[in-house]
Amino acid sequence: MYEERLRESLPRVEERIAGALARSGRAAAVRIVAVTKGHPVAAIEAAVRAGLRAIGENRVQELEAKRAEYPPDELQPEWHLIGHLQRNKVRKALRLFDRIHSVDSLRLARELSAAAQQAGVRVRALVQVNVSGEASKGGFDAARGTGDIAEAVALPGLAVDGLMTMAPFTQDEAVLRATFGGARALLERCVADGMPFAGRELSMGMSGDYEIAVEEGSTMVRLGTVLFGERVQ
Ligand SMILES: *Cc1c(COP(=O)(O)O)cnc(C)c1O
Repeated sequence: MYEERLRESLPRVEERIAGALARSGRAAAVRIVAVTKGHPVAAIEAAVRAGLRAIGENRVQELEAKRAEYPPDELQPEWHLIGHLQRNKVRKALRLFDRIHSVDSLRLARELSAAAQQAGVRVRALVQVNVSGEASKGGFDAARGTGDIAEAVALPGLAVDGLMTMAPFTQDEAVLRATFGGARALLERCVADGMPFAGRELSMGMSGDYEIAVEEGSTMVRLGTVLFGERVQ
C-alpha cells in the first residue's frame, strides 16, 4: 500500500520542490525528510525503497519500537528526531537518532551536549527557532536576539548545522513567508556574527507549506501527510 502511495505522491512532491527551487533562483538541492510518525514500519520500508534516506519521527518511544521492528538487513536510513525531546530521554535519543532537528531550548542543548560528550560523540543538531512569536510554538525566541543561539552553537557535544522552524498553522502566504524568510535571515545573521555552525541547513516546510518554505530558502522539508496520507495511529 505504501509503495503505491509513494509511487503517486513522491514524483509530484519532487516536481513541486523543483518548481519552487526554480522560482527561488537557487540551484541547491532540497532534502526530503519522510515523516513516518503515526504510520507503521511498512511506511519506512517503502520510503527507503523509494530512495528516501532520511526518516523523521517525533517521539523517542515510537522510533524505539519501530527500530526494533525494522529489518536489520534492509538499508538503514538516517533517523531524524523532529519533535520535542524530554530531558529524561536525552540518552536514549542519542542512541536512536542520527540527527535532532528540535533542539528547542538552551537547557536541552546543554543536556544533549553533556550526554553526547559522555558518550564520546558529537550529535548533529539543528536549533529550533520560534520566529512567529506564537506562544504555543517551541524553540529559541528569535525576538530575544542571538545570544542563546550562539551559546548553543558553541557547545562541544553538538555539531549545529543550521536552524529549524515551524510556521503557524495558516494558509496566509504573507505569514508563512515572514516566518520562513525570518528564519533564513536569522541564520544569515548568526553566520555573519561568526558563530561556528557546522552547516547551513534550514529545516522548514511541512505538507501544507513546503513550496513556500523552499521558495524562502529551505534545504530540508519534513513531509508526512503529502507522502503517506493521513496518519493512522
Ligand atoms: C508531523 C510533523 C511534520 C509533518 O507533518 P505533515 O503535515 O504531515 O507533513 C513535520 N514537522 C514536524 C515537527 C512534525 O511534528
